[in-house]
Amino acid sequence: MRLVRVAVPIPLPDQETLVYELPDEEVFQAGLRVLVPVGPRRVLGTVLDLEPKRPSFRVRPIAGIPEPRLVLTEELLGLCRWIADYYATTLGEVLHAAAPSPTGLTQRAMRSAEIEEEGWRAAEPPGREALNPDQRAALEALETALRDPAFHPFLLYGVTGSGKTAVYLHAALEVVRRGGQALILVPEIALSPQALDAFRRSGLERVALYHSTLRPRERAEVWRAVAAGELDLVVGTRSAVLLPFRDLRLLVVDEEQDGAYKQEDSPRYHARDVALVRAQRLGATVVLSSATPSLESYARAKRGTYTLLSLPHRVDGRPLATVRVADLRSRAAPDFRGAAGGGSPLPVSRYLTPILTDAMARTLERREQGILFLNRRGHSTYLQCRGCGDVARCERCDVSLTVHSEDSTLRCHYCGAQRKLTPACRGCGATDLWFGGVGIQKIEREVARMFPEARIARLDFDTVKRRGAAAAILGGFRDGRTDFLLGTQMVTKGFHFPGVTLVGIIVADLQLNLPDFRAAERTFQILTQVAGRAGRGESPGEVIMQSYDPDHPALRCAAAQDYAAFFALEAAERRELEYPPFGHLVEVEVSGKSKERVIAGVDEIKRVLARAASGTEVSILGPAPKALSRIKGMERWHLLLRSTSRKAMRDLLNRGLPATRGLRLPGIRIAIDVDPRQLL
Ligand SMILES: [Zn+2]
Ligand SMILES: [Zn+2]
Repeated sequence: MRLVRVAVPIPLPDQETLVYELPDEEVFQAGLRVLVPVGPRRVLGTVLDLEPKRPSFRVRPIAGIPEPRLVLTEELLGLCRWIADYYATTLGEVLHAAAPSPTGLTQRAMRSAEIEEEGWRAAEPPGREALNPDQRAALEALETALRDPAFHPFLLYGVTGSGKTAVYLHAALEVVRRGGQALILVPEIALSPQALDAFRRSGLERVALYHSTLRPRERAEVWRAVAAGELDLVVGTRSAVLLPFRDLRLLVVDEEQDGAYKQEDSPRYHARDVALVRAQRLGATVVLSSATPSLESYARAKRGTYTLLSLPHRVDGRPLATVRVADLRSRAAPDFRGAAGGGSPLPVSRYLTPILTDAMARTLERREQGILFLNRRGHSTYLQCRGCGDVARCERCDVSLTVHSEDSTLRCHYCGAQRKLTPACRGCGATDLWFGGVGIQKIEREVARMFPEARIARLDFDTVKRRGAAAAILGGFRDGRTDFLLGTQMVTKGFHFPGVTLVGIIVADLQLNLPDFRAAERTFQILTQVAGRAGRGESPGEVIMQSYDPDHPALRCAAAQDYAAFFALEAAERRELEYPPFGHLVEVEVSGKSKERVIAGVDEIKRVLARAASGTEVSILGPAPKALSRIKGMERWHLLLRSTSRKAMRDLLNRGLPATRGLRLPGIRIAIDVDPRQLL
């Protein structure tokens, strides 16, 4: 009887694998997914190698081999080992993420699947001859790289509407024509059917979508077909970067700056960075595409690590939308908050400046369309009693509850807890309640009040819950049955609505003051993205950016749509702080139910890590409570490891982390986040 070592997605003390008996009739195959017993449970694991020595304890046999048989390729196994090592997690966890397993669909997944059903009628990919000179130059650079079997990383940087997609679609077609495989990663599934349709129209048949909303059987089928070489091209979200390709020649990461590429629970990998590493190991071409590249990617392109391909103009010579900034501060615009009105014939509004409402009125008159963006769900962000001053807070999280008007509830956006909104304060019984802060539902009411004739729709997490709702909202807008589409960040994604001439940003600086080092970068990116929705058709676009902080440099850069200026500004600050891309960060998050234990635990971990870090180029910041210090009843503290030397950081993790695992810290959870995307 042969013995095999199997990696399982369960943390094991002091070992990576468990040993099992392989049935005599089975051929040994490294990478084979098998069902194995672990204690009373059965879990899916991956066969790694043969175990020559029979251990002293009783070895149990493998429980079964699921059909269809899934075998990780040697290349993929190697990549998974790299991920486990780099992101300081176990190989079993990474392999679990890499291979489909029979788990149920999540509710959230169901919702975004509906957006897909809408089946975007994307703009036809232009024929090669229709590409403009910039696009053609970019495509030729990619094709030259593809003829050379070596690692070629590119940053395809082009303004919104500049035709980046057409460039990489043609490159992917070229790869397939030559018999290779290509992968296109997209941040959200809503964007992928667009790309898929374009390929099908180009005559490609062996194309598939891969994402978490597929049924387990469908996922397994795509996985198997990729491994068998029966698919030429896959368009997929994050986990598609771990598919078992046979001959992967091109990897594209669309909207490379998007946070959706980072998995926020273990294994906490970044699909863009994994795509780069995979391309490097394979000797393949990788294209990062963006209108607002991450600071990391642009810095590397400037240094020459990536080849920069620029598309500085919109297709067909269309101009970028003009941007106007409207000051929301009352001292700047006393009229629009007062009772008298500011010379505008429209009723006054607390949240919509006359600059914006006038533009909305013109849009309606011309029978054009507008998008109004506010990145905040609900009606009011807090409810305060004017009798006793009490603010309604979540019992399990350190946040105030958000008022939702459609069903009169108070909801926690972090743990999902909710309760009925009562007409009187629960503490003192006063009925004088203040609905503070503005959410998209409040804006919806405001627009309905000011423009009773306008047809409006709202697209956010709350309106797309019902099956088919998202498709109906987006379809209605595309077909011109809606004048104004209101929404949260869902409306900023790469939708192409040629009828949109106005984009109104209700509060542009909403995310700017979050205590996170990427707050300015994310604000700049989201503003540029949403502004890019205007003027994509025949008529030119206009963007109104309302702000309480109109002189903030990040906002001024976004208003000027000047990425280079923003990069220079933000890079100077990051360099000073030795933050990415000028330093490397690792966050050590310590959480638990008891605050005392968490604090004692994080102190203990700091002591161990500090000893390992002494005399190295790694500094340890903290411990400090996280900005959201309690979520779902868990107290959260963290340490931040920072170094300008990647190697010093690796060494510290390799020496320090095993030592922290030896600590006895009951009731404490430790999470390691290498290259954290955010620190909130
Ligand atoms: Zn009260
Ligand atoms: Zn909560």
